[in-house]
Amino acid sequence: MTKPSPFIAIVGAGPAGLAAAEVLSAAGARVAVYDRMPTAARKFLMAGRGGLNLTHSEPLPRFLTRYGAAAERLAPALTAFPPQALRDWALGLGEETFVGSSGRVFPMSFKASPLLRAWLARLAAQGVSLHPRHAFRGWTPAGALAFDTPDGAREIAADAVLLALGGASWPRLGADGDWVEVLRGVGVPVNALAPSNMGVTIGWSEVFRSRFAGTPLKRIALRFGKSVVRGEAVVTATGLEGGVVYALSADLRRALSHRAVTLHLDLRPDVDLKALAARLAAAPAKASYSTVLAKNGGLAPVAANLVREVTGPARPEAEALAGLIKSLPLEATGHAGLERAISTAGGIAWRGVAPDFALTGLPPHLPPVFAAGEMLDWEAPTGGYLLQACFATGRAAAEGMKARLSL
Ligand SMILES: Cc1cc2nc3c(=O)[nH]c(=O)nc-3n(C[C@H](O)[C@H](O)[C@H](O)COP(=O)(O)OP(=O)(O)OC[C@H]3O[C@@H](n4cnc5c(N)ncnc54)[C@H](O)[C@@H]3O)c2cc1C
Repeated sequence: MTKPSPFIAIVGAGPAGLAAAEVLSAAGARVAVYDRMPTAARKFLMAGRGGLNLTHSEPLPRFLTRYGAAAERLAPALTAFPPQALRDWALGLGEETFVGSSGRVFPMSFKASPLLRAWLARLAAQGVSLHPRHAFRGWTPAGALAFDTPDGAREIAADAVLLALGGASWPRLGADGDWVEVLRGVGVPVNALAPSNMGVTIGWSEVFRSRFAGTPLKRIALRFGKSVVRGEAVVTATGLEGGVVYALSADLRRALSHRAVTLHLDLRPDVDLKALAARLAAAPAKASYSTVLAKNGGLAPVAANLVREVTGPARPEAEALAGLIKSLPLEATGHAGLERAISTAGGIAWRGVAPDFALTGLPPHLPPVFAAGEMLDWEAPTGGYLLQACFATGRAAAEGMKARLSL
């Protein structure tokens, strides 16, 4: 009699879990995916609302630097499944991708739903079963997975388990970090979860807030300490969010945990200070402050009013004003929490993860347990780095399981 193929339980139907399911089912394993939500990949679909920035086109060595301290541990997975492989995979599901002006990669449709639909159909065709409304609660004394379902408690015994439960940002989409205590309870080291790619809190005046909340600040640069990032930000009711803020979010989170910090905005990064001062000095003596900022400073209304937030109604002389436009100080007093952050820092500490993504040091009654995706301790800026690492670690964990199960 031939041995039945191994049964693998994957918990978490986000990109990391589904990527693993694809590899494992293609290798002949019996694969079941469990998720607490009624449907799969809610956060992936939410990412689609912003156009679905799948990955980034920059060369891999530079790409890897985006993961900071975790780059070394993620490098093998990202090298095995690099950005071009993700683009090829999307194309294989009928979604051609393109490189945007910033080097970011998007599907031509700018949506996640067609890709997800095609992916789920492929997984079903490969025999993967999807079990929604299964909330993972831990393990039974016999080492089976314990779930809460609408029909009561359910136990699932598997030959191997992959956990791909995500971080804790936007918890209403399914991932809320409730696995942290469960894993700590079986001896897995988990670093505290914290918001990443989150906005900062700035005390706007009521006039500025009511007029500009939701307005983008385009073509700016943000400086914090020695780091300068060019791109865009968005004024919110409580402060500032968007690409340039997210890019510095790891440093900002650390600094803001014990004090307020000063950020500097360059509202005209393409114009040098002297040229700008000369343009401002050329303004007619009778021109109003608003006119000078708009016409001579070349500032959009939101940027012009931001300058006035700092200076008040009196116009500084040209050189000082140019200095402010090039380096506008804003005091950030805090940062947004996990509910509004794009992603999560912290998670399963790398010292508890083997190179093949198996968790180490688990009690002997548990089957091999692997982990992938955002629940591992890494963070990266927006730009496609988040999804790329989730896909790559999901696939790498699947390869690790294949090797251990001789698939
Ligand atoms: C608004 C927004 C926009 C984004 N846009 C982009 C983008 O354009 N590009 C990019 O690279 N990244 C983007 N991201 C980040 C990206 O979506 C995530 O990094 C990625 O989805 C994480 O994948 P994952 O599989 O690790 O976890 P998730 O996608 O969070 O999936 C985890 C799954 O586990 C399930 N789960 C959690 N706990 C339990 C439990 N106890 N029991 C059962 N199931 C459980 C959840 O329901 C969920 O389905 C965005 C995120 C947000 C919030």
